Amino acid sequence: MIVVLKQGVQEERRAQLIEWLKAMGLGIHISDGDYQTVLGLIGDTSKVDMDLIESLDIVDSVKRVTEPFKCCNRKFHPDDMIVEVGDVKIGGGNFCMIAGPCSVETEEQIVEVAKAVKASGANMLRGGAFKPRTSPYDFQGLKGQGIELLKIARQETGLPIVTEIMSVSDLHLFEDVDVLQVGARNMQNFDLLRELGSFGKPILLKRGLANTLKELLMSAEYIMASGNEQVILCERGIRTFSDYTRNTLDLAAIPMLRELTHLPIIVDPSHATGIARLVPPMALAATAGGADGLIIEVHNDPMHALCDGAQSLRPEEYDALSKQIMSIREVVAK
Ligand code: PEP
Ligand code: MN
Repeated sequence: MIVVLKQGVQEERRAQLIEWLKAMGLGIHISDGDYQTVLGLIGDTSKVDMDLIESLDIVDSVKRVTEPFKCCNRKFHPDDMIVEVGDVKIGGGNFCMIAGPCSVETEEQIVEVAKAVKASGANMLRGGAFKPRTSPYDFQGLKGQGIELLKIARQETGLPIVTEIMSVSDLHLFEDVDVLQVGARNMQNFDLLRELGSFGKPILLKRGLANTLKELLMSAEYIMASGNEQVILCERGIRTFSDYTRNTLDLAAIPMLRELTHLPIIVDPSHATGIARLVPPMALAATAGGADGLIIEVHNDPMHALCDGAQSLRPEEYDALSKQIMSIREVVAK
């Protein structure tokens, strides 16, 4: 349920109302926008008398929110959420460019790629240290050592680092990571999501291979309901009957999620297609479709990459693409 307050309500009256609602055992999410204050009521609102609340002179309107997601619901929070990572802002008109290799392999590799993507305009560095691989015989990532190499690349370039967490038991290794990625395969690892809710770092939450938008939002809800509002959603393609691409990029997810939630929405055209030459057109389409940013795999030597070489752009290809992205941004931002 949401309660929209009238403009210019006295602080004392507002506090009284909030206390009264809390006394009914409800959690209250307060959103102070430029034009209105919205109180989001979380919990069992079935016994709340809507008419009584609506009759109060400080209340403009009361609406039931039928969706099961509350904290990430745009109705609770009409203004776009802006996630801040150091100086980098994501959402609310701020576009983020995350780029880097699928996996961290060596210091030379990650530092070289970091410098190259930064020069092309990337404002965050990605790189997997813990890799969720389909086969147990494939390269599983450098784990803790990979995180150390990412920190070196951050020191060299100033780029904040984004890397995937797979298990709650590794959380202590992520204290100095800027953004924790929850990969597609872990989107519904609810214990992990709950833990990340109290970890206090921005979370990049990727859509599962076969998950609906509602399920994605319910996973964001786990993190937010546990106390962490800093969630970035990522559309990375879903499993369909497409035979020539790794996944199917669900572009309509961008405007649909935009309606449903105030959280930033970014797109991963690399995992969505699995083919490097398809990455630029999909990156441009996602930008035109209103995404708040892109996460793109870039490798300095894709032919010898330990993971996902086929979908990795070379630094010069990323450079050319980023110029085109900027041009599209100029049109979309108008
Ligand atoms: C990744 O970003 O390296 C990754 C494994 O992505 P996803 O979880 O979307 O497959
Ligand atoms: Mn990858």
